[in-house]
Amino acid sequence: MRKPIVAGNWKMNGSRASIVSLLQDLKTELSGAVADSLVDVVVCPPALYIEQVQAVLEGGAVRLGAQNCSEHEQGAYTGEISPQMLADFGVEYVIVGHSERRALYGETSEQVAKKVEQAQRAGLLPVLCVGETQAERESGATFEVIQSQLEPVVGLVGIDGLENVVIAYEPVWAIGTGLTASPQQAQEVHQQIRSWLAVKSESIASSVRIIYGGSVKADNAKELMSCVDIDGGLIGGASLVAADFAAICSAASGL
Ligand code: PEP
Repeated sequence: MRKPIVAGNWKMNGSRASIVSLLQDLKTELSGAVADSLVDVVVCPPALYIEQVQAVLEGGAVRLGAQNCSEHEQGAYTGEISPQMLADFGVEYVIVGHSERRALYGETSEQVAKKVEQAQRAGLLPVLCVGETQAERESGATFEVIQSQLEPVVGLVGIDGLENVVIAYEPVWAIGTGLTASPQQAQEVHQQIRSWLAVKSESIASSVRIIYGGSVKADNAKELMSCVDIDGGLIGGASLVAADFAAICSAASGL
């Protein structure tokens, strides 16, 4: 049985003040509505606010994640944050290979694979994002693209290394656009990912959590989350609204 997971990617939003009220509202909205035993809930604030968020979350059920990490362990990498540093601040999860980082900062799948490896070395659980652009989908290359994003990771950490990875399928055309993959479209890709993994390891294929991201909202979460191969969500915009995020967590907990 795979435990669902919902992670909120706050991206570059918030302030010290707004984070306090968001977390307070989230606590209220989640209590009673979401059973901790049924869903892992993670928030990924901007790096600068990690310590502040950690202090508020301490002792509670909501886990702490980061939005990115360096692919290096330490050294002369100005401006970077290592996975070990994140772990030092109580971070448990880290998003790697988000499409915004691939598109805006030129991250390659090889770099992303190194991030997965370094994150695991530091004891973090990587949330590995994969997904196709609109043009790639229209040209029929959806799975080819996803495979090319997964292959370097499997090549570096091995198929068994995926035991401690969450895969996030995030079609680029659905991120922050209000366009959502239909449950059928999402399920189809999730199932393809699982089948591709199954060729290498049946047990990894059946145990790895594959979550969907791309304009998930309170009102479409239930349908998406009820697909057999969808194990939760990576949530951008809606994770900034406590009631919406809690509703999505609740939808996922009903899996
Ligand atoms: C994301 O950034 O990972 C994401 C899914 O964003 P949104 O939910 O806003 O589409």
